[in-house]
Amino acid sequence: MGKCVCIIAEFRHGAFRRVSYEVASEGKRLADALGIGLCAVAVGSGVAEKAAELGRYAVDKVYAVDDPALENYLAEAYVPAIADVIAGCDPAAVILPASVDGKDLGARLAARLKAGLAQDCTRVVCESGKIKAKRPIFAGKCFGWCEWAEGALPVISCRPNVMDCFAPMEDRKAEVEKVAFSVPETRSRVKSMDLDTSGKVELTEAEIIVSGGRGMKGPENYPMLEELAKLLGAAVGASRAAVDSGWRPHADQVGQTGKVVNPNLYIAVGISGAIQHLAGMGSSKFIVAINKDAEAPIFSKADFGVVEDLFSFVPVFTEEIRKLKSTCS
Ligand SMILES: Cc1cc2nc3c(=O)[nH]c(=O)nc-3n(C[C@H](O)[C@H](O)[C@H](O)COP(=O)(O)OP(=O)(O)OC[C@H]3O[C@@H](n4cnc5c(N)ncnc54)[C@H](O)[C@@H]3O)c2cc1C
Repeated sequence: MGKCVCIIAEFRHGAFRRVSYEVASEGKRLADALGIGLCAVAVGSGVAEKAAELGRYAVDKVYAVDDPALENYLAEAYVPAIADVIAGCDPAAVILPASVDGKDLGARLAARLKAGLAQDCTRVVCESGKIKAKRPIFAGKCFGWCEWAEGALPVISCRPNVMDCFAPMEDRKAEVEKVAFSVPETRSRVKSMDLDTSGKVELTEAEIIVSGGRGMKGPENYPMLEELAKLLGAAVGASRAAVDSGWRPHADQVGQTGKVVNPNLYIAVGISGAIQHLAGMGSSKFIVAINKDAEAPIFSKADFGVVEDLFSFVPVFTEEIRKLKSTCS
């Protein structure tokens, strides 16, 4: 295939992660603006069999690097595998997910390809043939636009849950080319992976998040948020104060040193709204804050604020949602 935009699809435990489809959709918009095609690199164990699926999200051709030794992400193996494909297909831009693995991969890949990297982007555009990407800076306090020097390859990682994802084109399939790659001897190895099998919604992919902070007073009060979350089909998050106090696991932490999330609805309960927390959830599409202090900084970010004691408000709110759901079903 000729000049293209190349996306890197994230394949884990036998399936593509949703963020791969978001990245494909953004890649397609850019490819159309540049008047070129869209290709993908997919690495993993058993990925070749599934790779044609990416065609549903407008990918024309997938280069599949399939090996049982590539079951889990390992930079030492993934970077050379992907770099070889990219060097061979000479793309106009490389777009990948700004997931935990994707941020690591993007940085290493850009260094290896001597490319220019823009991490955690929220928009990619093409103006007069020039690619530009928008990304948060100073922990999300403001946004900057990145441009690339003539001849420099843009490597752009996209923040999950931000880019509009196409509705899948059910009958469309991508052409798949299996790429031979001999997996190198690596200095480190993933020996086992403990997957969360609780069926909990993953924070970075959640459409709704109910998050609790120090105002929750203790771990014994979180079932109240879990109940609300269950009714809403939401994930439960936490502030660092709640995590540092040992009330919630670190995997639940939202913020600068936790996860960056972009749900449609973020409900902050007993969270003051420190800048480091806002860095992780400030770009949520709709923010509701429940806090008894009317001066709490979270209210400056919230679309809807409730100044109330959470212990009296949340149970009533949950009950109202339950009633609403039962009348709707
Ligand atoms: C380098 C660095 C990185 C950091 N990274 C993160 C991060 O990733 N994520 C993060 O969250 N923080 C992070 N922090 C910490 C951050 O600065 C704040 O300390 C933290 O976010 C505060 O958490 P909180 O809002 O739960 O607690 P607090 O600031 O103590 O706020 C508790 C809120 O609960 C309200 N409240 C109390 N009782 C009730 C009640 N009964 N009903 C209703 N409201 C009530 C209070 O009015 C208050 O506003 C970081 C700090 C540093 C220095």
